[in-house]
Amino acid sequence: MSEPLVVVESLRKVYPRGVEALRGVSFTASPGELVAVRGRSGSGKTTLLNLLGGLDAPTEGRVFVNGKEVTALPEAGLLELRRDVIGFVFQSFGLIPVLSAAENVGVPMRLSRTAPAERDERVKALLALVGLEAHANQRPYELSGGQQQRVALARSLANRPKLLIADEPTGQLDSQTARQIMQLIRALVRSEGVTAVVATHDPSLITLADRVLELRDGVFLEAEPAASATP
Ligand code: ADP
Ligand code: MG
Repeated sequence: MSEPLVVVESLRKVYPRGVEALRGVSFTASPGELVAVRGRSGSGKTTLLNLLGGLDAPTEGRVFVNGKEVTALPEAGLLELRRDVIGFVFQSFGLIPVLSAAENVGVPMRLSRTAPAERDERVKALLALVGLEAHANQRPYELSGGQQQRVALARSLANRPKLLIADEPTGQLDSQTARQIMQLIRALVRSEGVTAVVATHDPSLITLADRVLELRDGVFLEAEPAASATP
């Protein structure tokens, strides 16, 4: 068996004023695995993903990604990790409004100083991968919500991350578009060999995930098999 790509050990997060958002959460994710984190609003999903991606620090516990202890990295190490190892996708897409789809996808490669010719080629390939080659020059406001999320997905994969973190990526989309985006995430996880941890309420991802973790009030309920029938 291969080493897990993600190891989360006994995470606790207490926010100022005493809200205990996570109360001892542990799990691992293998290379190429698509893990869905489900739970109602306020159950701790965003808190968990932020700790996983080094966007915030836990009160207790440890996170390892790709063999590195995220929870022990200094700020410079975290920047590097978020640039090179982790791709992020958010509910609100997070695209830069004045940049075209292609330019948005190119941003992480500018940050990692990828040579321009290689960058242009990779941008093209990524836009094709998400089915947007015909929309490369459109700005975010000229794209539908589903198309914007496709751009965000392409951008998240720009530097060939090992881990994709997506926080309710279909939360702003209608159910049919949401389904297409979830199917795209499923396909990208397979084709790019990336590990993905996706917080969602969306039933379409729940059935596509390799594993479903259910958060309730900051702890995992017992794991259940993906696509299990509910009576
Ligand atoms: P979810 O993403 O599942 O909706 P969150 O992780 O956002 O859950 O929130 C979990 C709990 O932590 C909630 O009770 C929320 O109000 C609280 N919380 C989240 N962020 C903060 C913060 N920055 N400061 C204080 N409390 C927070
Ligand atoms: Mg959330």
